[in-house]
Amino acid sequence: MTRIIAIANQKGGVGKTTTAVNLAAGLARSGRRVLLADLDPQGNATMGSGIDKRALRFTVYHVLLGLSAVQNVRMRADGGTYDVLPANRDLAGAEVEMVDLENRETRLKSALAPVAAEYDLILLDCPPALNLLTVNGLVAAESVIIPMQCEYYALEGLTDLINTIKKVRAHLNPRIQIDGLLRTMFDPRNTLAQQVSADLQQHFGDKVYETIIPRNIRLAEAPSYGKPSIEFDPACKGSQAYLALAEELLCREAATHAAA
Ligand code: ADP
Ligand code: MG
Repeated sequence: MTRIIAIANQKGGVGKTTTAVNLAAGLARSGRRVLLADLDPQGNATMGSGIDKRALRFTVYHVLLGLSAVQNVRMRADGGTYDVLPANRDLAGAEVEMVDLENRETRLKSALAPVAAEYDLILLDCPPALNLLTVNGLVAAESVIIPMQCEYYALEGLTDLINTIKKVRAHLNPRIQIDGLLRTMFDPRNTLAQQVSADLQQHFGDKVYETIIPRNIRLAEAPSYGKPSIEFDPACKGSQAYLALAEELLCREAATHAAA
């Protein structure tokens, strides 16, 4: 069965795209068939997968507006381990253009349906806003990964995101679950980060992934080479952490199926 996971947090710069790209490559490394959909007009997941966002004729924008099908828009990531549904700034217009369309919240879900069986996992890299694009992601997905930095204001934004997920669950997608909170850019020497991390575990228990992504410069360098860090430098601490996260995700899934 295909699992669709949204990677969301309305805060920018918390590690959504880094997580999306490295998880896509990490899951592909474990033999899974993966599609990464870029839902951010900044197109960072597209570029970070080695696809030039400026040279695209069709993007997820055309898919959302019903002008093209996923089959005609998806591309293989450079290096060839997973597929990408690319985005660029065209997508910035989608928000406004979709408002008057029918089923504006379910357009991504419908568009993915014909290709879903070709993948084990579909990852959705959401933009840094609780907008219609993110809502399309939350409606299409059955679970959400929330990357967050362990800093003072992190929890404040979390409440808004959780409320949005609750609304989506009540009105549009009863299946949606928070798969987990992911601690990113973690610096163990920072006592505030340790405190916030402990608070998260206390409040959210096993909804917090055991895997912690450390602050690691290689993760920040990899996109300029158009590669996920785990392909660019598999041995670095950041890559190792994302490989561990991919394992944790697959283990949790296996445990859920065994229980069902
Ligand atoms: P978002 O998609 O949430 O806006 P990004 O994944 O683009 O966040 O990350 C924001 C910036 O931080 C990028 O420049 C990225 O390369 C860098 N970055 C992300 N995760 C890490 C990390 N664990 N260590 C160091 N730099 C990171
Ligand atoms: Mg991003």
